[in-house]
Amino acid sequence: MDYSQYSVVVVGSGFFGSVIAERVASELERKVLVIEKRNHIGGNCFSEIDPETGIEFHTYGTHIFHTSNEKVWNYIHKFTEFNNYFHQVLTTYKNKVYQMPINLETINQFYNVNLKPFEVDDFLAKEKAKDKIASPPKNFEEKAISLIGRPLYEAFIRGYTKKQWNKDPKDLPEFILNRLPIRKNYNESYYYSRWQGIPKDGYGKIFERMLSNPLITTQLNTNYFDIKDKISKDAILVYSGPLDQFFDYKFGKLEYRTLRFESEVHPYEDYLGTSVMNFAEESVPFTRIHEPRHLHPERTYGQKTLTIKEFSSLDDGTNPYYPINDEKNSNLVKKYREEAQSLKNVYISGRLGDYKYFDMHETIASALGLFEDKIRPSLKA
Ligand code: FAD
Ligand code: UDP
Repeated sequence: MDYSQYSVVVVGSGFFGSVIAERVASELERKVLVIEKRNHIGGNCFSEIDPETGIEFHTYGTHIFHTSNEKVWNYIHKFTEFNNYFHQVLTTYKNKVYQMPINLETINQFYNVNLKPFEVDDFLAKEKAKDKIASPPKNFEEKAISLIGRPLYEAFIRGYTKKQWNKDPKDLPEFILNRLPIRKNYNESYYYSRWQGIPKDGYGKIFERMLSNPLITTQLNTNYFDIKDKISKDAILVYSGPLDQFFDYKFGKLEYRTLRFESEVHPYEDYLGTSVMNFAEESVPFTRIHEPRHLHPERTYGQKTLTIKEFSSLDDGTNPYYPINDEKNSNLVKKYREEAQSLKNVYISGRLGDYKYFDMHETIASALGLFEDKIRPSLKA
């Protein structure tokens, strides 16, 4: 392979890299090389079919597409249609099932009361007043207690968060909780987004279509660090792998959280009755169970079902999934970002490159922005 012939090289075939490659090829009609170390395209959004049940599942964890960004919604529709899946999550605490995010049903069931929406603020104010949290809250735990009071926090948030992040919630940034709405009504939607759904023919097809332009060459099973010296020094490089690795960890290692999955096939058509059940207690070793058949209500699957238990741990460098945006890591990121900004024609971005907790629509929006603001102008010049 003659790597030097490409004036645009993209590392990583997840949403970030694939959007850049697609835009460069279809808008600017330039050749692009996509380098991917895994044996498939699509990054963490990859999906496959379970051979025993025929059920499609998401290899690296369930992915629900949701957005209120019209530009992103129009863009993604060039590559897929979505089904009408609507994301709802339940959580089990002390062998009882509750709505998650916490809504009026969760509160009423937990306290065994029958509040009306207009009574919730006063009720929670009394719970919150029992802890004297200074404003503004300094960390995740304080933020949670200042929103819902200690009993709900301890039941539904503390154990789950500890399991998920392997950190005491006091050591986590409060913004993580912004992902989780608290509702004073019976709304059961996990998201506030204007649009949501699952790609009708799976995530894999989106990436196949994005990378199908003949101007794009995709090379799988290739680690960028093994071939980087063969790339032209004048090429534009878009790197969507881990930020610290790009700089050979010169300021130290960033922490990432990873996941491990345990799959099981059951002789029932339906095991959970929903696509995801969280388990709130710290004593349950996994965070949630997924049942992917529910992601495709429009499909007819057989009499067996697949469930996937999700276990969370610190990454040892093999499978970085989630950035851990605590103070220590945020300070390191600052140093690396300054270094990244000083590089010419190199863009380090995406969820791992920016070290940000991006959802898919945010990753796509960020890649579209980079293309318009930086890559299009520099390739046109
Ligand atoms: P990635 O998808 O991680 O892709 C990066 C790619 O770069 C990978 O394929 C990797 O192999 C490759 N790579 C890295 N280093 C190298 C190297 N040295 N050489 C070659 N290739 C390299 N978002 C939602 O909107 N809804 C959800 O429900 C949702 N659920 C999620 C669940 C989990 C468990 C996880 C981890 C994420 C979830 N997300 C969800 C977020 C979503 O996965 C990301 O927004 C999106 O995948 C980020 O795309 P990316 O291209 O930046 O990164
Ligand atoms: N969370 C929680 N209990 C739950 C669900 C979520 O405490 O039952 C907290 C947890 O700290 C988590 C955060 O809310 O990290 C955001 O949840 P989300 O479902 O967005 O996490 P993700 O889908 O990224 O795993």
